[in-house]
Amino acid sequence: MTGAALEACDVVVVGLGPAGASAARAAARAGARVIGLDKRVRPGEPVQCAEFVPLSLGSEVEALGRFAVQPIAAMETYTEGDGPRRDALPGWIIDRARFDAGLVEAAREAGAECRFSAPVARVDASGVTLSDGSRIEARVIVGADGPRSAVGRAIGSVNRVVSHTRQITVPLLEPHDATDIFLSATMPGGYGWLFPKGSVANLGLGVDAPARGFLRVLLEGLQATLVREGRIGWDVLAITGGLIPAGGLLAPSGRLGGREVILAGDACGLTNPITGAGIASAVISGRMAGEAAAARIAGERAALEDYAEEIEDLFAPALTRAVARREAIVAACARHRATPADLQRAWIAYDDYWTAPLEAAPHSGVAA
Ligand SMILES: Cc1cc2nc3c(=O)[nH]c(=O)nc-3n(C[C@H](O)[C@H](O)[C@H](O)COP(=O)(O)OP(=O)(O)OC[C@H]3O[C@@H](n4cnc5c(N)ncnc54)[C@H](O)[C@@H]3O)c2cc1C
Repeated sequence: MTGAALEACDVVVVGLGPAGASAARAAARAGARVIGLDKRVRPGEPVQCAEFVPLSLGSEVEALGRFAVQPIAAMETYTEGDGPRRDALPGWIIDRARFDAGLVEAAREAGAECRFSAPVARVDASGVTLSDGSRIEARVIVGADGPRSAVGRAIGSVNRVVSHTRQITVPLLEPHDATDIFLSATMPGGYGWLFPKGSVANLGLGVDAPARGFLRVLLEGLQATLVREGRIGWDVLAITGGLIPAGGLLAPSGRLGGREVILAGDACGLTNPITGAGIASAVISGRMAGEAAAARIAGERAALEDYAEEIEDLFAPALTRAVARREAIVAACARHRATPADLQRAWIAYDDYWTAPLEAAPHSGVAA
């Protein structure tokens, strides 16, 4: 493409992760002319994910099992080293790079033009400008460009609260059928995880932004503990990390001059601030955003308002609870060493997470 190129289409999708690929597919299936752009060289790489998806995602992604590396039966939660408490939570550990590539393939099959090595440098009323200076004009811009979305920023929807993460892939010495969760007052606003992936495991940790300087030492500590317990090996096979939106739902739509803008996935703040799970909400919101974009192109004036309302209905209740629980545990960690009861009130396996009043101040100093 030359520097001065100008193209036009109905819908331009910025970002071709799970949200963007799902949006591109849905919009193209509904008849819109779609161009999808991603700065990555290849879909899904590098992987920045622990790779767990719930079984229920199978209702959105055809033959989800084809991306699976191993099945998961349960979630096992440790609180300050005690446990585990085991809860049924069926799902898959997927190969995330293959998963993202599969969604892009489906978008292409539906007729969307999906381009990689295509970094978007600017989003404004004139459309989307790539870093080579070329421009794409579209009536609808879908922002699916992740936690630091340039499209979101252009309409004032910005993930201001984020968790920072660090993850290593390590040898797993015994097969395991659960996602392990490690809650600790040393990890404010986050937790540690060991997600088994066949003969290896994703071992990671997330924390509230101000604690990000401790990520490396905290992860080394968790690794050392699990090595001592004979569960994992010392080798580090891969290192990754990334940001997780943790402030809840952002305004899902807006306008830029004469263009309309829709956000999906992490760009819309849909990742759960407590669990960090965002693949399913990215796929679902992406599909809905693509359908709304195509409907707008087809002349439905209220398509974007309807999208915003549906997103709110579907995601706001869970996100509101998660934001409140995260704020409470971050505050508890800042004021004192949060108690096991505080930690468990901020984790989905425990009744208190679902039933304790959201405005309640966290326990202070009384160990459970
Ligand atoms: C360490 C870690 C572990 C996680 N583990 C899990 C898990 O086990 N299960 C789970 O459900 N969720 C997990 N998540 C969250 C999950 O990965 C995200 O919620 C999900 O990827 C969101 O999808 P998305 O399509 O909205 O954004 P992304 O997957 O981030 O995709 C955004 C795309 O936009 C592209 N892009 C960004 N800016 C530009 C630009 N300017 N120009 C062009 N392209 C651009 C990027 O290259 C990227 O491909 C994890 C996150 C992290 C960081």
